[in-house]
Amino acid sequence: MTNIKVVFLGESYVGKTSLINRYISDKFNEEVMSTLAGTYSTKSIYYQNKEYFFNIWDTAGRQNFRALNKIFLKDVNIIVLVYDITKKQSFLELQYWLDLILEDHPDAYLILVGNKDDLFIEREIKKSDGEKFANVIHSAFTETSAKDSHNWKAFLDNVFNNYLKMSVDSKKDNDKDFDDDNDNDSDDYKDF
Ligand code: GDP
Ligand code: MG
Repeated sequence: MTNIKVVFLGESYVGKTSLINRYISDKFNEEVMSTLAGTYSTKSIYYQNKEYFFNIWDTAGRQNFRALNKIFLKDVNIIVLVYDITKKQSFLELQYWLDLILEDHPDAYLILVGNKDDLFIEREIKKSDGEKFANVIHSAFTETSAKDSHNWKAFLDNVFNNYLKMSVDSKKDNDKDFDDDNDNDSDDYKDF
């Protein structure tokens, strides 16, 4: 059994919870409960006849739970950075997360997501600015909408598969252990 820890980060209200709900259960709700503490949902993906469990952690925005967010990042493998294309501030705030990531988790695999592209009329961040930023931080990138869904599930499945390809193959090469420790470590979070 192999666990991969995925953590969603980004300002409150950008749509982290909605994106996770859409990915896991293909649902969208206009009135999402605000996220008070982290919870995780699991998505299983097969790669080379072996089952991998992507444990997807939701977090609250940075204002309220800065210290907690640091705890949630323990042993992270994949970080999904989310901004709202209609809120410039949510894009600028990504720098805060990046500083935190570079300090503690420089090897994390990054994914950048510009959410709410159904509201493109209110756009404040150009798609090309998202792409440029993704190039700088060497991350995968998409614009999407938790509301309209269109490419989101396929995008994330694809990125997770690429991650497995990369990690499993490099593991074969140098027997680097990228995950199994998480089985124990995740117990630390059960109280949240
Ligand atoms: P979080 O604080 O980052 O977890 O954001 P939520 O998932 O709670 O979403 C905040 C608000 O934005 C809620 O009212 C959602 O219904 C709404 N929302 C989330 N994603 C989208 C989207 O893609 N398009 C639109 N129009 N609204 C969205
Ligand atoms: Mg939330």
